[in-house]
This record gives sequence, structure tokens and C-alpha cells, in this order.
Amino acid sequence: MPNKKKNKAENLLLKQESFWDIATREEQSKAFEFCEGYKTFLNTNKTERQVILDSISLAKKSGFKDANFEVRIGDNKKFIFNNRNKSAIFISLGENGFTQGAKILLAHTDSPRLDLKVRPLYEDTGIAYLKPHYYGGIKKYQWPTIPLSMIGTVILKDGKEIEINIGEHKDDQVFLISDLLPHIDLERMDKPLKKAIGAEELNIIVGSRPIGDKKIKDRVKLSVLEWLNKNYQMSEVDLFTADIRFVPSFPVRDVGFDRSMIAGYGQDDRVCVYTGLTAFLASKENQTKILFLADKEEIGSVGTTGAKSLFLENVLEHLLLKTNAPISINDLFRQSKAISADVTAALDPDYKASHDPRNSPYLGNGAVIEKFLGWGGKMMSTDAEPKFIREIVDLFNKKKVVWQTGHLGKIDEGGGGTIAVYLANRNLDVIDVGVGLLNMHAPYELASKADIYSAYKGYNVFFES
Ligand code: MN
Ligand code: MN
Repeated sequence: MPNKKKNKAENLLLKQESFWDIATREEQSKAFEFCEGYKTFLNTNKTERQVILDSISLAKKSGFKDANFEVRIGDNKKFIFNNRNKSAIFISLGENGFTQGAKILLAHTDSPRLDLKVRPLYEDTGIAYLKPHYYGGIKKYQWPTIPLSMIGTVILKDGKEIEINIGEHKDDQVFLISDLLPHIDLERMDKPLKKAIGAEELNIIVGSRPIGDKKIKDRVKLSVLEWLNKNYQMSEVDLFTADIRFVPSFPVRDVGFDRSMIAGYGQDDRVCVYTGLTAFLASKENQTKILFLADKEEIGSVGTTGAKSLFLENVLEHLLLKTNAPISINDLFRQSKAISADVTAALDPDYKASHDPRNSPYLGNGAVIEKFLGWGGKMMSTDAEPKFIREIVDLFNKKKVVWQTGHLGKIDEGGGGTIAVYLANRNLDVIDVGVGLLNMHAPYELASKADIYSAYKGYNVFFES
């Protein structure tokens, strides 16, 4: 009798189990192994540009070729379309070309960071500063007193493109935002977190040694400009024209005695970029598949490189024409299926009150399937189709992908959206599948190796289905 009852429960209940309990030893070793590649990727790619360039070089190793709107495409079947080094589309044409739609995976390359204001360099009482303008949703109090790296691209007057990367090598100098000592900060200590540090107080210290001539004003600022000119041929106007990002310098590290987790900057959404890319490259080539790495998600997916742009249409129209495909772009979209691959918030046991523990994803319980997101009554949500959700759930069960349901936080405690909606707008079925993080959007985010590997496996079986 007890056995029968147990079987009945097995069939009726939706279980939420840890990867470490249900995955085989061999699978668990594979997860650890897989994450070594991810750690390298995350460590070397801290800006959207680095992410794109590295992704392209990895794809080229698997036979993908640059196909930037060339007139002749020959018999190439694996294309890379690079959009301004910030977003890219990778397409592999299967046996049926475009006639039966495509499997699409979309992830984003950008992460919250500090950009610069338009005239950022100044000095105050003997210290030179760069004034940032933050990018994306940050908690401002998390950014002072951590080492920052400066990574960017400058186009000099003569058209020469210069890459700046200071702070990533262990012997490099770094940059820092200061904070007040607790002894004399009693008034501010009583302020709510949101107001404790204003955006205008986030100023990056970049120098303190003046040039020799005491008659000159702004001697520390000038000394910084001299350094930039000597090392990068820059002048002050180049701080205006350049793309410069300040990001946390912390290297990626394993977390926990058991090394079961990874801490690193920018896991939103580079964990899905890497797992999506490696799953895309490792999947069989009989099906037509598309990997879309988009920029600007953190500020609304806008602009030429965001998921809302017509870049995807642009690329597909070009290829449909060049391959004489007997299908319109709208028919192609209608027959396609997509995964929006982005991170979500795993339940943080220290802040249970902001989550709904019965509906939240948990660290280590596998890839997170989210049928909808949004806020204030599912605002801006896509609501995946039940038939498509069923398909993904059945596929993951069949292929032994460890997965869990996801829901972002408590209702009306905030909320958020993903880029799923911009694919859904194109009239194709799309669902969110991603990785749950702790301290998402912080300078150092935490993910479980179990979930990273499960996402990889889930994306892989999707491309092969
Ligand atoms: Mn994201
Ligand atoms: Mn984000």
C-alpha cells in the first residue's frame, strides 16, 4: 500500500529537486568541466564588444564565416553577421534551408556598468576624477570601494581605432570610487539605501600626481591627459567620442568549499551568451538555427544593436534573397520557435520576503523555465503558448535536462521583463529559459554550476529538437 501511494504522488506532483540529487555522478563531473570554459569566457569578456568579438572567434573555429551582407554567399551554410561589434547574428542553414522555420536563441551581451559623462575629466583638491553616467539598473551603493577596470574603444583624429584595457591584468593599475569612513558618516548612515549615494557622487579616482609647472591650472587633470596622450595618443575630446566602460576588476572565482558555484561580473547575461553559443555550436547541423546576441537589453533593447532593431529582419531578408528561399520573412518567423535566454532571480534565503518561496527558482535546481514575466499585472509580459511550454517541458524531461519553474519575485514587489517580448512581436513562439542568479546586477554575481550546465544542455536539446 505505501508504495502505491508513493507512485501516485510521483505522478501527480510537480517536483522541485536539486541537480546534485538527481544528476548522475558523470553528469555532475560534466557540469564542473563545462564551467571551466565558461569561467574563461566570463573572465576575458567584460564589455559587450569583447563578448561579441570572442563569440565570433569561437564560432569561426566551428566553421562559421563572416558574411556581412556580401553579394555572393557561395555554398557557405554557416554565417556570421556582426553588427558594430556589439551584437551579432549567427545562422547555420540545415537541410531544408529556411522553408520550415528556424530554431532561434536570443541572449544579450550588455551588463550594468559605469559609462562616462560627455565631459568627464576634472580635478578637485588635488585628485583627478572621471565622472560616470551609470548604464542599466544598478544599486549605486555597491559601486564605491571596489577595483574598477577601464575598457573601451577610441577612434583617434586620424581614424585609427585604439583598444583600451586597463585593470584586467593582475599588475595593472585600477580605478576606484571612494566612500566615507563610518566615523564621520552618521547622518548619511540613516538614509535609505536608495538615497545614501547619489549618481553624482559616484566619481572615479584616476590620478593625484600633478605636472611640474605650478603656474598652470588643473595640474592633476593635465597630468592624466598627458598620460592618456603618451600611452594612447588621446586628447580630451577623445573622452567624448570614445566608448569607454568602467567595470569591476574582480576575476571570476569558484565559490564554496565544494566549488559548486561561480562568482563573476556580468553573468547577466553572459552566462546565457556562453551556454547559448556553445549549445548552438555543439548541436547537429541538420536543422536551421539562429543565434542572436543582442546589445542594449539593460536599457530597453533600443537602438541599432538592440533586440528591437530591424537587424534580424535585415539579415534574414538578405539571406532569403541570396539563397532564393521560397518563403517570405513573415512565414519564416511564423514557423520558427525561440528561446529567450536570460538570467532570473533565484531565491535568496537572506531576503525571502521579496520572493515567493513556493514559486521562486532555487540555486542548483536546474535551468529555469519562465512562462511569463512582467510587473503590475503581467505588464509587458509575453505569456508563452501552452502548446509550446508543453513541448519544451516534454523535451527537457525526455532528454533529462534538470529544469524548474520560475517566477520573478513577489507580485507588486517590482518585477522585470526580458527580450522574449521582442521576438514574440515578430509572431513566433518564444519562451524564457535561463539561469537563476543571486545578487543579480551587483558587481559580482553568483550562479550555480548545476544551473549553468543545465541551461547549456537545455539549449542544446532545443537546437536539436
Ligand atoms: Mn538580462
Ligand atoms: Mn539585467
